[in-house]
Amino acid sequence: MNRRRYDLHSHTHFSDGTVSPEALVAEARAAGVDVLALTDHDTTEAIDLAAAAAQAAGIQLVPGVEISSTWQGRTIHIVGLNVDLLHLPLQQGLAWLREIRLERAEVIDRRLQKAGIPDCYAAVRALAQGSIISRTHFARHLVQAGHARDMGQAFKRFLSSGGKGHAPTQWATLEQAVAWVRGAGGQSVIAHPARYKLGTGKLTALFENFREAGGDAVEVHSGSQRPEESQRIARLVNQLGLKASVGSDYHGPEQHWIGLGRLPALPEDCVPVWVDWDH
Ligand code: AMP
Ligand code: MN
Ligand code: MN
Ligand code: MN
Repeated sequence: MNRRRYDLHSHTHFSDGTVSPEALVAEARAAGVDVLALTDHDTTEAIDLAAAAAQAAGIQLVPGVEISSTWQGRTIHIVGLNVDLLHLPLQQGLAWLREIRLERAEVIDRRLQKAGIPDCYAAVRALAQGSIISRTHFARHLVQAGHARDMGQAFKRFLSSGGKGHAPTQWATLEQAVAWVRGAGGQSVIAHPARYKLGTGKLTALFENFREAGGDAVEVHSGSQRPEESQRIARLVNQLGLKASVGSDYHGPEQHWIGLGRLPALPEDCVPVWVDWDH
């Protein structure tokens, strides 16, 4: 039997992706994905639309979310899978994070003004169309307005640490993020671990703290992650008794180097995060 194809990390325009929930599901189906998790940043607003589309398309939609958290001064993203959308502490936590996003957007806007780039806030609100406000929206505006050549340059010059519009942000704690997901009956997963640029010592400390808080799994395969990184992460995950997840972190066709569902099989010795799922 062919293995089921999982992609457990993806976005729509309800956060900083460019596709609708319906288009995301259609693309997943075309890519041969059997099980898709929709994990927008700090919101679950798109899930109902995606779930309806997935049912019609005959694929399984896992309700999820990607929670912004801060651990030892660094931003760490925690993916929640199979969360109960009606769990109040989760939704209250996400609403609080969206408030933090709004306040941060004003700070970024002020800093960009000082750097000689006016009127970003209104443009970014318009680009976000009522969804959460992400640095991605700022980057898109900066490119469109001619202040950066591409998204990478917009982040480097203006939005990443050291950039002119950078606003350090205190998100939820790792413990809060994990507790909201657990309370909502879901599993929590450390997203794209290679992206944090941590040495093995720090990465181990992160994984240990996460496990102690009740965390379940780590993304062993993530879109645009090098195979050596995946091997290093798989080893650590197995040593610490954590489960393994796979997710492309798809944001839309513009990032043509990251495809939905294009993920290698997990190493044989990993325990998949879906081991106890009933399907
Ligand atoms: P935020 O959560 O608002 O701080 O924005 C983080 C998002 O920005 C991530 O989820 C990515 O989608 C995007 N991002 C971060 N760095 C880059 C980059 N160098 N180029 C393009 N997108 C990026
Ligand atoms: Mn994003
Ligand atoms: Mn992320
Ligand atoms: Mn993501």
